[in-house]
Amino acid sequence: MLSIRYLLFLLAVFPLFALSSEIEQATQQKISSQIEKQTSLVFSEFEQGVELLSIKYNEDNGQTLSALNSFAADNPTKTNDDLAYLLGYRCYLELTTKNQESYSNTQQVLDELIISTASNPAIHAAANFCKAWFYYFDKNTEQYDFFIEQAFNHILNSQSSVLKYWIATTFSMMAQDTGRHSAAIEAAKLALTIATINQDNYRAATSWAIMAISEAELGFYDDALANNQLAIDWYSSINNQRAILGLYQNRGFILNSQGNTSEAKAIYLDAISQAEQLDHQDAIHEIYSNLAAIAFTEGDLELSNNYAEKTLAYAQESDYRSLAAHAYSIMAINYVYLNELEIAKDYFERGNRFFEEFKMVSQLADNFKSWSEAMASIKNYEAAYNAQLRYKSLSDKIFNTERESRMLRIKELYQATQKDQEIEKLAFENQRKNIEIENKSLEQKIWLLSAVIAILAFVMLSIFYRKLKNSNQTLTKYNTKLNEERFIDPLTGSLSRRFFEVQQREHILNSSEISFSLFVLDIDHFKSINDNYGHACGDYILKIFCQRIRNSIRKQDNFIRMGGEEFLLVIENSNYDSDAKLLHKLLCLIKNETVEFEQHTLSISMSVGVASNVSIYDEKSLDIALELADQALYKAKSSGRNQGELLDLHSIPLTNVINNYDLIVSKTIHGVE
Ligand code: GH3
Ligand code: MG
Ligand code: MG
Repeated sequence: MLSIRYLLFLLAVFPLFALSSEIEQATQQKISSQIEKQTSLVFSEFEQGVELLSIKYNEDNGQTLSALNSFAADNPTKTNDDLAYLLGYRCYLELTTKNQESYSNTQQVLDELIISTASNPAIHAAANFCKAWFYYFDKNTEQYDFFIEQAFNHILNSQSSVLKYWIATTFSMMAQDTGRHSAAIEAAKLALTIATINQDNYRAATSWAIMAISEAELGFYDDALANNQLAIDWYSSINNQRAILGLYQNRGFILNSQGNTSEAKAIYLDAISQAEQLDHQDAIHEIYSNLAAIAFTEGDLELSNNYAEKTLAYAQESDYRSLAAHAYSIMAINYVYLNELEIAKDYFERGNRFFEEFKMVSQLADNFKSWSEAMASIKNYEAAYNAQLRYKSLSDKIFNTERESRMLRIKELYQATQKDQEIEKLAFENQRKNIEIENKSLEQKIWLLSAVIAILAFVMLSIFYRKLKNSNQTLTKYNTKLNEERFIDPLTGSLSRRFFEVQQREHILNSSEISFSLFVLDIDHFKSINDNYGHACGDYILKIFCQRIRNSIRKQDNFIRMGGEEFLLVIENSNYDSDAKLLHKLLCLIKNETVEFEQHTLSISMSVGVASNVSIYDEKSLDIALELADQALYKAKSSGRNQGELLDLHSIPLTNVINNYDLIVSKTIHGVE
């Protein structure tokens, strides 16, 4: 379909010429097989398909074309890609048959298609692409360039990756030829993307190669070298030695442009041995011309001429005129410096003619520039000036294109780095935000956890506190109750003997600075009450007796049931007289008040022994005081009962009196008779 070999004529940029031709040859092979594959795919369902292919193999393109045209007319519902292939194949056949009638017919079909398929990117691009090739046949490069560019612009919006690759590749070559290297690089990148997606090593290699060439042209030598190496690697993977050879030439060009002539030379020599192995004479002699240029810059005019003559001989022999032009231009300058001005002028003009013929504008410009310098060096200023004028007018246009292309490339690179920086910044910002969010959530978690722990702790503490409080209250209540039970006599409600043992004793012993009066009370003939009226009556009397005594004493006075019907009344800070009065009052109270029990009116009395106003300083003195009170009680009993014996123990050393009761001042108190 593409018939890309004709592109050879266009690819006039030397020394990249060879590489481009290698790419094209390989591309053509690939595309031819692709066309067959796609054609058989499109037509496999049809008998015509088989027929078409058999005709194609018989090289009867005219027949194939007419069959194809009728197939297209019969199958208007085929998909876009199928139609695009069909169209391309049709054009390919048109171009190869050169049948004047169908040729113009196809041109017309294409024109109509371009108008009618504006909204259909694949077909529209394919139509433009085919149209370009027709112009190519007519050697109308301007129109060719225009339609290739149209095709490229439309294919960008299409889904057809195969078409996209073909057009992108062709466009990148065209852009490279016309000095639009930035566009060439971008198109090659697109082709590379498709190649990578389709895991197509061949296409990837081609794309890397195009990028390497254009980058070298723009002076991005480092990028160019890197991509050159990638292209070599990819071509190695598909074992395409010719393409690799082309890339070695490109590498030499880059190194030479960088001023690294010795490495460039080494690469070129290596490339020559590779070319010899492949018997690639074009390549060998292209490299000779490059070596000639290097030798000239190094000042070895003889060697330079040697290489250039070899190149020229081969170029003339094989009618490789653009190569011949190159050899002429080098030799022309060499001969100026060798002082052979006639030959120099002749070679210079021959070179110019060929460059003009092939529209190799930059080579033509370079040729004038070198000539001007050479003429100036031999003081032929007129010739130098004229050459410089030609150089200026030629280079203005070239440099403009180059400058613009370079500007564009730099802008793209700048935008790409800006994008990278933006992405990096965004990524960094993102990361920072993530960390912040993580920290925040961690903080929140910690807070939450702390709060939960605090709440839990609070709840637990409250529960514990309440439990503790409850249990304390219970304990207090229990203790109070227990104490009450322990210190209160259950029958009479008076203080118990235990109270006396545990608390009263302690209190008395701890209060040595105050005096106490101890009243020991005993109900008279109680046994007979029990005996006569029953035990319950005895109990009842005990209760009434206690109530009456308690009601007659002060709050701070302790009335204690020591056992049976015997009691102890403890009075603090009293004196002998007040004790006598109290004793009398109590005796009267008990004797006067009768007790009613079950229709019985009972009268009771009591006897009392009192150790009055006693100072107690230890256990022993307490025991003596109690003993003395008991002795006084005994005296009251034995003296007739219903009376009290009051001992004045004020400032009497108790130990001295224990066995000398008579020494103690005492008086007997009587209640009512
Ligand atoms: P005295 O005038 O010499 O004190 O003669 P008494 O009968 O009161 O003396 P005694 O000590 O011989 O008798 C006390 C009696 O008190 C013996 C016991 O049965 C009785 N008694 C002791 N405790 C209680 C009690 O809690 N209830 C009853 N109903 N009787 C008790
Ligand atoms: Mg008794
Ligand atoms: Mg008694």
